[in-house]
Amino acid sequence: MKIAFIGLGNMGGGMAANLVKAGHEVRAFDLSEAALAAAREAGCATFATAREACAGAEAVVSMLPNGAIVKQVYWDDVIGHAPEGAILLDCSTIDVATAREVIEVTEAHGYQMVDAPVSGGIAAANGGTLTFMVGGSDEAFARAQPILAAMGKAVIHAGAAGNGQAAKICNNMLLAIHMIGTCEAFAMAQKLGLDPQTFYDISSVSSGQNWSMTSYCPVPGVGPKTPADNDYQGGFAAGLMLKDLKLAMEAAQAAGAKVELGDHARAIYEAFARDNAATDFSGIIRTL
Ligand code: NAD
Repeated sequence: MKIAFIGLGNMGGGMAANLVKAGHEVRAFDLSEAALAAAREAGCATFATAREACAGAEAVVSMLPNGAIVKQVYWDDVIGHAPEGAILLDCSTIDVATAREVIEVTEAHGYQMVDAPVSGGIAAANGGTLTFMVGGSDEAFARAQPILAAMGKAVIHAGAAGNGQAAKICNNMLLAIHMIGTCEAFAMAQKLGLDPQTFYDISSVSSGQNWSMTSYCPVPGVGPKTPADNDYQGGFAAGLMLKDLKLAMEAAQAAGAKVELGDHARAIYEAFARDNAATDFSGIIRTL
């Protein structure tokens, strides 16, 4: 297929390269010249504007920083420039309300569109092992699925437009809460005289077991290899976790959902990210 790809940053660069590897003709655009050069290197054709990238494309994929930029790109450069009937896929993490608005407006202009945010970081984007959570109609999902499958290991239909974003922020709110809880438990165990490895051996087979403990252990040298073993570099930056928690709090407020722990996690990551935005989110253990 001819696929326009807009936003070739840390995530989008690897994703566009995987579409090329799967045999697609990728028409790439980014504001950054360095990102465009890397995309050319990966086999993409690059363009001076998003509009030109969208011309003649059967599908448009975007991977952009936030909802305001997504809206601006779709309003200014996609609608009326991508051929009518094209399938549009926004993989950025953005607020639920904007995701629903962009899908409603593009569909009113004769396109089909899904929101398809991802779980998995830069390594998963490069390796083609992302998980996509997809919101949109059955028909739009069926068209988006094979494109997403070329960039990921799992593509899950979460329901109507915006539900991909809803799944993403609920998942990441839960992740923040159990990461903080896991860090508190390890720090307290140590203060009570328990060796972290011993606590891990017990809790990882007891009822406190969770993903932050056994797949992403925040203690260096304990459990599988994680960013903790690399001085909390790489992995999932605290600043990005804070972004997702803010989106979650906005959505909770709009939906009237009670999220006391989610809001507390937001406050904790807000304080941490002030000086540690690029640090992996498990680095919160250093504050304990
Ligand atoms: P990034 O900042 O590395 O990349 C964003 C790219 O968009 C940049 O190259 C930038 O130049 C480009 N851009 C900005 N405005 C543009 C415009 N108007 N037109 C064209 N290009 C434009 O960010 P990233 O880490 O790749 O994240 C992208 C999205 O993926 C975000 O929504 C983020 O929340 C989400 N996400 C990131 C991760 C991660 O680990 N990095 C994981 C999951 C989801």
